[in-house]
Amino acid sequence: MNKTIIVSNRLPLQIKLNNDKLEVVPSVGGLATGLKSVHADGNGIWIGWSGLTEEELDDNLKSLVKQAVKKEKCEAVSLTQDDIDNYYLGFSNKTLWPLFHYFMEYTEFEHEQWQAYKRVNEKFAEVVLEHIEDGDTVWVHDYQLLLLPKLIKDKKPNTSIGFFLHIPFPSYEIFRTFPWREEVLDGMLGADLLGFHTYDYERHFLSSVKRIMRLEVNFNEISMADRTIKVDSFPMGIDYNKFHNAALAHLNQDESQKSELQKRLDDHIQSDADTKLVLSIDRMDYTKGIPNRIRAFEYFLNKYPEFKEKVRLIMLAVPSRSDVPQYKKLKRETDELVGRINGQFATVSWTPIWYYYRSMPFENLIDLYTSSQVALITPIRDGMNLVAKEYIATRTNGHGVLVLSEMAGASKEMNEALLINPNNFEQIADTLKIALEMPEAEQSRRLHILQKRLKRYSVEKWADEFMSSLNSTKKYRETSI
Ligand code: UDP
Repeated sequence: MNKTIIVSNRLPLQIKLNNDKLEVVPSVGGLATGLKSVHADGNGIWIGWSGLTEEELDDNLKSLVKQAVKKEKCEAVSLTQDDIDNYYLGFSNKTLWPLFHYFMEYTEFEHEQWQAYKRVNEKFAEVVLEHIEDGDTVWVHDYQLLLLPKLIKDKKPNTSIGFFLHIPFPSYEIFRTFPWREEVLDGMLGADLLGFHTYDYERHFLSSVKRIMRLEVNFNEISMADRTIKVDSFPMGIDYNKFHNAALAHLNQDESQKSELQKRLDDHIQSDADTKLVLSIDRMDYTKGIPNRIRAFEYFLNKYPEFKEKVRLIMLAVPSRSDVPQYKKLKRETDELVGRINGQFATVSWTPIWYYYRSMPFENLIDLYTSSQVALITPIRDGMNLVAKEYIATRTNGHGVLVLSEMAGASKEMNEALLINPNNFEQIADTLKIALEMPEAEQSRRLHILQKRLKRYSVEKWADEFMSSLNSTKKYRETSI
């Protein structure tokens, strides 16, 4: 029986070492949920890194990890600390991440890291090739594994290979600056189906394929000597019911069930009939536009002083890649800006920004989403932005306004949000005022449309559509032989 193999940098498991004992917890993230049915189907497997380097594992632990991972229908790719430093922290996060998000000034082109990237993609290919058989389907995920489709296709041409990019694909003018542009495109073109979040990313990719590889492109198909490759957009959704149902349950909480955070939020909301909370949640990443947002909020308080003591910005920034210098700098800048604005505007009973630099458990995210009248999400570039979608899914009382950057992939499906240019702080400030003053009927009209769309196009549906499109490329190949 043919099977499906999912490949991603990390396995959907959290593996912890506790005094030589292994603890394995399946991950509850969006991608894991979306791929659950693909993974559970028949003898499907998921291949990826376990999160523990070779140096952390002696032979005994290695075989324990292997067994534990196998139980979850997974296979681990073994990586050294040097692999992680150069392929993951290096090439993936210091070259591909900034370049694909248009941060050229942050992009490093290091030959040694490129070598590591190639070497690790080959390590992934080795594990895939150990498990793959003719007729199988492989679904490769994201920017850490751009070379993998070709490495598999060359050895196993009679398999169907899908690839999905979870970050933007940049315009040709950006991509052409990349020293290894041919190798990377060649690697991706090993796939039979290439998926992107938006039509724009798809167009950018096709334009690079045409101009750099000189291949023939017809609509969304690329003609190769021996086969045709399909390119399409599949905007990733969320586990809508999980967020929506958690928010419904939250509405019915009695006082004793409330978290400490919720009690604090309630104190603020109940302090005055006009008070409102504005929420932002992101990883502390330079693509997310955190300083821009704080400056826009400062401008808002100066331009519209009637909102002082009434509106509070709650900013949850989740630590991320904190050893990388640009991330350190961003953290410093954010701390300083928050300090300056709180110092400048705070009164005895009010601080304009509540700033949390940590991650929060799911229950607290629901507290934040359900208590905030406005979500202010202002990335400079973002492949999709799931937080925007999660906020909408939790607005079960029919109120709530999303202010969203037009540079987030999510904006393409969320026209009923208030869309802003993240570099225009005057526009952000004016739009925030419109959001805070929007009549309830208008809020509810917009929410209703957004919710209907998000519910229909959930993460499960995203995975289904990708898989059926991949299956149709297989049928097409069989009939054209
Ligand atoms: N999130 C989380 N813990 C937190 C804050 C956020 O698990 O403390 C989740 C959030 O619910 C969302 C994800 O992190 O699902 C962020 O995804 P998004 O697409 O917005 O941004 P990314 O971090 O992938 O760039």
